[in-house]
Amino acid sequence: MAVQNLKPNVISSSSIHYADLIKSVRDKNLKSLLARKKLHLVLDLDNTLLHSSTMLKLTKYDRDYLQRSVGVKLIEEKKLFQWNFQRNDSVTCLPARGRNDHWVTKLRPNVETFLKEASAVFEFSIFTLGTCKYARKMLDLLDPEGLYFAHSQVITREDIRSKPLKKGLDLVWAHERVVLVVDDLKEVWKDDNAKSVIKIAPYEFFDDESSNKKSWSRNWADESEKYGELARVLRELKKIHKEFYNVEEGQDDYESRDVRDAIEEVKRKFFLQGTKEGMSKHAQETINEIDECFKSMGLNCRTNGPNVILQTNHMVM
Ligand SMILES: [Mg+2]
Repeated sequence: MAVQNLKPNVISSSSIHYADLIKSVRDKNLKSLLARKKLHLVLDLDNTLLHSSTMLKLTKYDRDYLQRSVGVKLIEEKKLFQWNFQRNDSVTCLPARGRNDHWVTKLRPNVETFLKEASAVFEFSIFTLGTCKYARKMLDLLDPEGLYFAHSQVITREDIRSKPLKKGLDLVWAHERVVLVVDDLKEVWKDDNAKSVIKIAPYEFFDDESSNKKSWSRNWADESEKYGELARVLRELKKIHKEFYNVEEGQDDYESRDVRDAIEEVKRKFFLQGTKEGMSKHAQETINEIDECFKSMGLNCRTNGPNVILQTNHMVM
């Protein structure tokens, strides 16, 4: 089936008077969301779910990569796309050589699984500093069958009134207390929304000559599907969702709960676990150091957990 016939039904937010509409939509949405034990997840596009570049910006190295079998294979597998804005908003796979007015987009490894599993417990919206036209293209690539974003709100740079451009949850059609954000840039969000943002390490597949960091393509590698950032963030999101809905029987007044508290609680538990493991590791390192020290003094040192048992064979003067 042609990709252009499967475009998700994107709801543009550019021409809507938000002040009155948002409250009404949020109130209606909240009950439905909580009844289905879901939360709302706002997703960034660039460097979070994918990496795009114009062909013009690609280095000679990356152009070469696209023409090699590894690049061609990614295109055949629909993990890497070359496209332009010309053909009636359709996504067009182009020959590997491409042209300078063409774009190239690489989907982040594991993105399909991420969307599939996250959609079981979250409703999605998209918030990008790219244009609406660009966002529609990217959703064609990410969700050609309209499984995940068919009814999603898509917020783009055209919807933002503030200068400089800042993303804000005031534009999202869900109450802030049930909204989580995944973005590679926390600083593009208004300060008031910082607590809602789960930061993900940026995905940079294509080369950037202005950066010292080697791109994945230059390394002839890619982020791990199993241990990469999307897998990590998915685990974190599931924990937060579980924490939000983890209430004692009879106390399921979810409307009074706030997902930002759940985020803090998950962070606190993670920190405590990390501290415990860190202390355990530190304790073992200390025991090893003591062991080495006593050995150098001619003493036997037998460790028993955190306890150190000395066996003195002779006097040390
Ligand atoms: Mg981004």
